[in-house]
Amino acid sequence: MQGLDQIKIENLEIFAHHGVFAEEKQNGQNFYVNATLHTNLRLAGLNDDLTLSTHYGEVSLFIKEKMTEVTYDLIETAAERAAEAILLQFPLVKALELELRKPHAPIPMTFESVSVKIYRSWHKAYIAFGSNMGDSEKYIADALKGLSMDNRCKVIKVSDIIRTKPYGGVEQADFYNGVLELDTLYTEGELLDRLHELEQAAGRERKIHWGPRTLDLDIIFYDKEIYEDDRLCIPHADMQNRDFVLKPMVQIAPYFRHPVYGQTMTQLLQALEAGKRSNYGKV
Ligand code: AMP
Repeated sequence: MQGLDQIKIENLEIFAHHGVFAEEKQNGQNFYVNATLHTNLRLAGLNDDLTLSTHYGEVSLFIKEKMTEVTYDLIETAAERAAEAILLQFPLVKALELELRKPHAPIPMTFESVSVKIYRSWHKAYIAFGSNMGDSEKYIADALKGLSMDNRCKVIKVSDIIRTKPYGGVEQADFYNGVLELDTLYTEGELLDRLHELEQAAGRERKIHWGPRTLDLDIIFYDKEIYEDDRLCIPHADMQNRDFVLKPMVQIAPYFRHPVYGQTMTQLLQALEAGKRSNYGKV
């Protein structure tokens, strides 16, 4: 992760039983871990205070615990679980590289080592929520609770809920809208799946485009990423045209800068409102 300091643990020896073969599970072997923790060391350094840093001894013991409490077939899985556990356990660690080496892997040839190396981090996402059917406030509260209870998510800020007139011209009740800031371990696609689960839990049926909905959850930003695949467009393609997204964004993140337009949330809202005023002028 750019701009962060690092704590490195190198060649931590751990005897464990990971492997596909029965002999590996039975006999065990030595594994070696290299971990680079990305964190801010400025305050700890200025104050000479360990409580402001992450204790490498504790992290080392924790890695050993995670690598030995469950036996996996794959070093990929052992690394994935250990990396996630570290990010959940040590709040100052924002990202990490974790390499797991297996020098005694069952390969009938001369070799030094095999390894996997993964990079995992917390991501910051902004999610827009909306509802205009049924008990809107309850659907929104349930979605927030669902995200709060998910250990791969930390809800950092939630905007006020605003009531707005519907968008798109279909006859329907007022919308309840807002946005939230989320720290998450999910990838973009996993986060979308999680949001769809929450929409479904609110009984959402995808029928009429722009039509009434019990709960709508959109990813507005995911870090500063510009990303698209067959299901996702990030930043959200229409957010700059929606005052019911921009207004609550201005409330919780006025200086957040759109990675494509290069404008802050406040500037985008001003531009939208200026455009609206000139449209009204033409009517
Ligand atoms: P809607 O019914 O208007 O909520 O559209 C939802 C669909 O839009 C989802 O199933 C996604 O595949 C797609 N989509 C594209 N970009 C995004 C985004 N940034 N956040 C949420 N859904 C998105």
